[in-house]
Amino acid sequence: MARMRAMVCEAAGRPLAARERERPQPRRGEVLVAVSACGVCRTDLHLVDGELPQARLPVVPGHEIVGTVAACGAGVTSLAPGVRVGVPWLGWTCGRCDACRRGLENLCAEAQFTGCTRDGGYAEFAVADARYVFPLPERYDDLAAAPLLCAGLIGYRAYAMAGDARTIGLYGFGAAAHLIAQVALHEGRRVLAFTRPGDAAGQAFARALGVHWAGDSTAAAPEPLDAALLFAPVGALVPAALAAVRPGGLVVCAGIHMSDIPAFAYRLLWEERTVRSVANLTRADAQAFLALAGRVPLAVHACAYPLAAANRALDDLRHGRVEGAAVLTMHGDRASNRS
Ligand SMILES: [Zn+2]
Ligand SMILES: [Zn+2]
Repeated sequence: MARMRAMVCEAAGRPLAARERERPQPRRGEVLVAVSACGVCRTDLHLVDGELPQARLPVVPGHEIVGTVAACGAGVTSLAPGVRVGVPWLGWTCGRCDACRRGLENLCAEAQFTGCTRDGGYAEFAVADARYVFPLPERYDDLAAAPLLCAGLIGYRAYAMAGDARTIGLYGFGAAAHLIAQVALHEGRRVLAFTRPGDAAGQAFARALGVHWAGDSTAAAPEPLDAALLFAPVGALVPAALAAVRPGGLVVCAGIHMSDIPAFAYRLLWEERTVRSVANLTRADAQAFLALAGRVPLAVHACAYPLAAANRALDDLRHGRVEGAAVLTMHGDRASNRS
């Protein structure tokens, strides 16, 4: 049996373990992907911290997989070996339940998630259902393409919920916000970036991408927001963002996990302000965002780490030491900073 290297989440609260595993075989309808890069998402931190009750351990994390199809299982006609593809968080849905029928496959109760309920891309190979795998825009190399697959896709679903909002606040300026800021600016919107208090480097990074204002999340917004997108997993940001949005405005919580939201005065919600969450993604989101990323050149800031350094990448993400996105590569350590 062919072997492969993988970083495995075996128990919550423990570092990932470096393991030699049997290379998986694609079953009917699946493809085997030779992984070249895999993004490191904040969700992966929630996984290793035991904050995702749906996780099935042991599991190989990683749901921003870029690679090439190495083999196709029986019945796969949409893809062929050698094609470069991306594998995102949504790994499988039932297609029959009420949510699936209503176009809300992101809410399917039977859904499987890459790197959470099925093995992901912190490994040299991964298998994926061919119907949930996407060709990638050619303008991005493997390192740059990886963050598009969650930071980009789920960021885009949150952004799309903001509708025609003209002034958008982004809370937490990491992998998702740095991509969505560029999309919003390209569409002529005003973008304000709110970072951890005192994060001068993060604010300078946001300004360098062209946002109209960047400052501390504890500061008052310099102008009323039409919508606020929360990418930081900090519940206290919900009342702060509600205070920053105008009457009728919207606050979108984009993370899979957040600390508890503190009690707040009803007057913050009054005047038809809305708080909502974004859960997962649909294949339609993936198609829409990847098509957009093919048309609009996004400057993807990615920091590369070798697969074996996955724990260091997670630690750097946890402590805010990553500018843009952290990405594991199967071909050594290098940095990418495209602009
Ligand atoms: Zn379903
Ligand atoms: Zn993610």
